[in-house]
Amino acid sequence: KCHLESAKMLNLDSSVDASLNLQSRPDVLTCTYWKAPIIWEGMFDPRLYDEMHKMRGSSVALTVFAVGRYLDAYLHTFLNSSEQHFMVGLPVTYYVFTDMPEKVPNIKLSPLRSMKVIKVEKNFRWQDVSMMRMKSISDVIESDIRHHCTHLFCFDVDQVFTGRFGSEALGDSVALLHAHYYRLPKHLYTYDRNPNSKAYMETGDFYYHAAIFGGSWKNVKALTEACYQGIMEDKQNNVEALWHDESHLNKYMVLHKPSKVLSPEYCWDTSIGFRSDIQVTRLLWAPKYYDTLRTP
Ligand code: UDP
Ligand code: MN
Repeated sequence: KCHLESAKMLNLDSSVDASLNLQSRPDVLTCTYWKAPIIWEGMFDPRLYDEMHKMRGSSVALTVFAVGRYLDAYLHTFLNSSEQHFMVGLPVTYYVFTDMPEKVPNIKLSPLRSMKVIKVEKNFRWQDVSMMRMKSISDVIESDIRHHCTHLFCFDVDQVFTGRFGSEALGDSVALLHAHYYRLPKHLYTYDRNPNSKAYMETGDFYYHAAIFGGSWKNVKALTEACYQGIMEDKQNNVEALWHDESHLNKYMVLHKPSKVLSPEYCWDTSIGFRSDIQVTRLLWAPKYYDTLRTP
């Protein structure tokens, strides 16, 4: 059985998974060696999860960054689709970080849902915009999220919800399998291999995608602080990890194993083509217009 009985005693989210009896599937890996569930379609009953989390009083913060040209290109579609599919029925607070608060689209939110817009400076390099999210997120957890929400998910903005992304994804510490790597052998994982970087690692468990991570506010605070610290130490040493914040996230997750892993259904790239194990797509990569979006 893929759960921790001891989690019940500690009242961790893993106890929800334990009591709701996750099923396994023959065609995919549904459990890590440290006994964290890997969530795939068909393993869970969505109604039971929603009931359980309502009963427990779970409330979810979503952070998303739309800095510079990413705002016009993606934010409207992201927020509209998340109103349709993200944690429907639970209280949700959006934390939108942008350099242009006045341009944030006015979306009609369902009851129990609200939005806070937070102004950030626009970094010159896109790599810094991406990495500095770690600092902004840990700051807002401390000043706001910890007082209002039990859980937190952090998202890239260049994606669109297309199916249920619900309370089955909630956990104490949650990481996502990268769609392009989940079937590849480990030696092809693009971890940072520069011993001078804080993100350096030889081997790991999976290759996680930094477009989504989450957990309890406490765990996400620890994660974002550790990643930010690694990023700043690298800057002092004049190195940059291969895939920026994603490299630091992978390093953190090998040292602090996630309690729940999301299958690539939760962030699929349709350009990969048909895969029999992907039975639903819950969130899709939006087109990446790097040439126009990343020029300062
Ligand atoms: N981002 C942004 N403005 C920028 C660069 C990045 O708002 O100029 C944010 C945005 O939320 C984006 C995320 O940082 O989704 C990560 O960057 P990107 O999606 O380009 O990285 P990739 O998906 O290619 O790893
Ligand atoms: Mn992205």
